[in-house]
Amino acid sequence: MSGQDFYNSHRSDDQDRLHEECGVFGLYDPRREFEVARVTFFGLYALQHRGQESAGIATADGGPRLRVRTSMGLVAHAFDESDLAALSGHIAIGHTRYSTSGSSIKSNAQPIVVNDPNLGPLAIAHNGNVVNAAYLSEELGEHGYSFSCTSDSEVIAKLIVSMPGRNWTEKIRAAMGRISGAYALVLLTPTALYAVRDPLGVRPLCIGRFDNGGWAFSSESCALQTVGAKIERELEPGEIVCVDADGEHRTLYPAGERKALCSFEYIYFARPDSVINGLSLYMVRTEMGRQLAREHPAEADIVIPVPDTAWPAAIGYAQEAGLPFAEGLIKNRYIGRTFIQPDQRLRSQGVALKFNPLPEVLRGKRVVMVDDSIVRGTTTPPLVALLRAAGAKEVHVRIHSPGMINPCYLGVDTARRDELIAANMSVAEICKHIGADSLGYLSIEGLRQSIGLPERSNCFACFNGDYPVPVQLEMSKLNLEARRRHLGAEAIDVVGEREKEEAEGLALALR
Ligand code: SF4
Repeated sequence: MSGQDFYNSHRSDDQDRLHEECGVFGLYDPRREFEVARVTFFGLYALQHRGQESAGIATADGGPRLRVRTSMGLVAHAFDESDLAALSGHIAIGHTRYSTSGSSIKSNAQPIVVNDPNLGPLAIAHNGNVVNAAYLSEELGEHGYSFSCTSDSEVIAKLIVSMPGRNWTEKIRAAMGRISGAYALVLLTPTALYAVRDPLGVRPLCIGRFDNGGWAFSSESCALQTVGAKIERELEPGEIVCVDADGEHRTLYPAGERKALCSFEYIYFARPDSVINGLSLYMVRTEMGRQLAREHPAEADIVIPVPDTAWPAAIGYAQEAGLPFAEGLIKNRYIGRTFIQPDQRLRSQGVALKFNPLPEVLRGKRVVMVDDSIVRGTTTPPLVALLRAAGAKEVHVRIHSPGMINPCYLGVDTARRDELIAANMSVAEICKHIGADSLGYLSIEGLRQSIGLPERSNCFACFNGDYPVPVQLEMSKLNLEARRRHLGAEAIDVVGEREKEEAEGLALALR
């Protein structure tokens, strides 16, 4: 069997990656100078790496109704010129989704719109995962609330509506006392834009300003740059920001000392041109590579990255080791990402042509291959085989994250514990399994030092099991859905339809 055949038959790249969570974006244009839907479209376009299953934009113009357009698929395919023209107004929120809770179906696409009998409509876009969503959902059900989709984001929205309060800020603040887990939110009312970050700060959310005085909110700073806003700061954990005709209003929900920004944002999720906690992701990843070289040196001739995410770490490794950096694998960037519709059958297709080796670079060389992570261990063996088939004499695999031994319950689609290779094999066994000459993972302490934030600033739970909130072990991303089915799906579907009709009274669903 040739290297390419082996590679084609074994490669299941998509299953062996951690999947990003979601991207959220918000915009308030007090001078009404922008086409807010168009700006939001490009903001979402810059956040596409955080979710490829669905996209949506909601806008408000001060009138009683919100305008909403959601669609399955990539941002570029979700909207056309007529959608953007119909999404009028001076305030907008947007969302690009990877399903960490609930199925990949259109009814789970966001923004979601709910109605408060006193305050009117509210659209919500959420990044994260609520660990007590099933409990809150049942409790809300007992109080007469029903659900039209199966994501935890709708639970947040309905919980906010159910809370006591004279205005949205009071209701949001009250809801924050009930929600356990990760949430970075942008919310839209007919006259105001809200941005909310959970008290642990698990998911990133930043604020930017335009020269004309407008505000932009984004999961990552790279999207602010894309739309011409300057990053002002990040929301603090527990912060609620409201922007309306009177300007910006800030409320802080009391957060404890413990913070838990996901360390995988630094390793892999966020774009390298983003800045989180004042740290350039590119520079942090380069430092991870340097630290990896100190912890796991190798007798080698060249250092290559698994493109694209491992580039900065491979550069750092090469610099520290004093070895030449080279490209040994070329990725086809136009082949498309197969988790647009992540069912098992589709996942196993279309990935075989993603990488080609460069024999001219690899032949006769002892190669260090740097990658960001090994999840199930299905991707690395065919990559190693590919390098050997292209003539590499030795392959030393270096991973710029620690071994993943626990699933994530805070908004990242990892795998079950029994599927995580590092939870079930020793490093020596994994090395044999992937067919490498040697294997080294970055240590947790090395990761912590590379990020450089104080102790207990980040979440490392998938590496050390120290979850920042109590979690129900082996909670599935379809948990809420299964629970609702158990309670009687028919009733929920009927109510869902009725609610959709009701929603049309308060939000104009486009197409
Ligand atoms: S468990 Fe891992 S992936 Fe999940 S939030 Fe914590 S560090 Fe991130």
